[in-house]
Amino acid sequence: MLLKIQNTESVSREELEMILTTEDEAFVQELYRQARETAREYYGNQIYIRGLIEFTSYCKNNCYYCGIRCGNKNAQRYRLTTDQIMECCETGWNLGFRTFVLQGGEDPCYTDEKICQIVRQIKEKYPDCAVTLSIGEKSRESYEAYFEAGADRYLLRHETANEKHYRKLHPEEMSLSYRKNCLKILKEIGYQTGCGFMVGSPGQTIDTLYEDLMFIKELKPQMVGIGPFIPHQDTPFKAEPAGTLEMTLRLLAVIRLIQPGVLLPATTALGTIHPKGREKGVLAGANVVMPNLSPVDVRDKYKLYDNKICTGDEAAECKACMSARMKSIGYEVVTDRGDYKG
Ligand code: SAH
Repeated sequence: MLLKIQNTESVSREELEMILTTEDEAFVQELYRQARETAREYYGNQIYIRGLIEFTSYCKNNCYYCGIRCGNKNAQRYRLTTDQIMECCETGWNLGFRTFVLQGGEDPCYTDEKICQIVRQIKEKYPDCAVTLSIGEKSRESYEAYFEAGADRYLLRHETANEKHYRKLHPEEMSLSYRKNCLKILKEIGYQTGCGFMVGSPGQTIDTLYEDLMFIKELKPQMVGIGPFIPHQDTPFKAEPAGTLEMTLRLLAVIRLIQPGVLLPATTALGTIHPKGREKGVLAGANVVMPNLSPVDVRDKYKLYDNKICTGDEAAECKACMSARMKSIGYEVVTDRGDYKG
């Protein structure tokens, strides 16, 4: 059955249910093996690193799952200046990072002009690096302006492809069709585009996951970001259970098999729910890790969920730790832009 997925790059609703619920450990190990072999065909034993710069914790949105939602009055808010962002890049470049990911809440304080200016400055100083933006839903004009300024990639998780599920996770003023359209536009403009979702978010079912996978197949993104949902104490979902390691690993493997060349991170959230989560993610088909380059004094203020790891570590420690972790399972963190090879 697995070989069938690998060859057809598709999965049926029934196969998905079986893969996600089976207790046959040998089957699951075979799933992971096939997924990591597939990743190896494209990327060998190389793991791409992205330097994550969380530049603002202000957000105008109020997503029920997220710790930096505007309704969370306990959240500590900060913004990085352009100079601070450039310092993060300098530290990162010296450590071998060749991709910088600028992520933040949807913060109107960073106008299009400001974002473009930051992107231009990074690309001017580090022409050998890729810049990824992860700053939410914008207009086509804004996305075009960032692209012209030099942004290479854009991450915008769709969160769920199912309308009813989307409504359970987001307040009324947000819309799934708008978000899906943003992804379509990003791809049209020419960004290496990433969608994705949380595993185990409240209301998620095998059916909604199946829709997520069909959405991925249709969009054909260059990147897919998935990680477990982890409750945050100051959100409406504080009492909801977290997504599991097992479910996340199985979904990573399925995504690798249906979209073989995809850039697939083993996320910080995965590392948060299990001490070896990111290693296990790579062994289930992931090929990207995203250590944090944000200044240490703001790290614990960018809290999307509780118990986030590495909030006290300097960038150099994070890089060294990640290299050692990957080496321990036979992989090598490389100094490379890490573009899509699919
Ligand atoms: N404002 C940007 C960046 C969002 S943060 C945007 O809208 O795209 C990046 C991702 O973190 C989100 O897309 C979401 O999937 C994830 N996230 C948010 N809250 C989370 C939680 N409680 N547990 C796990 N992941 C979470």
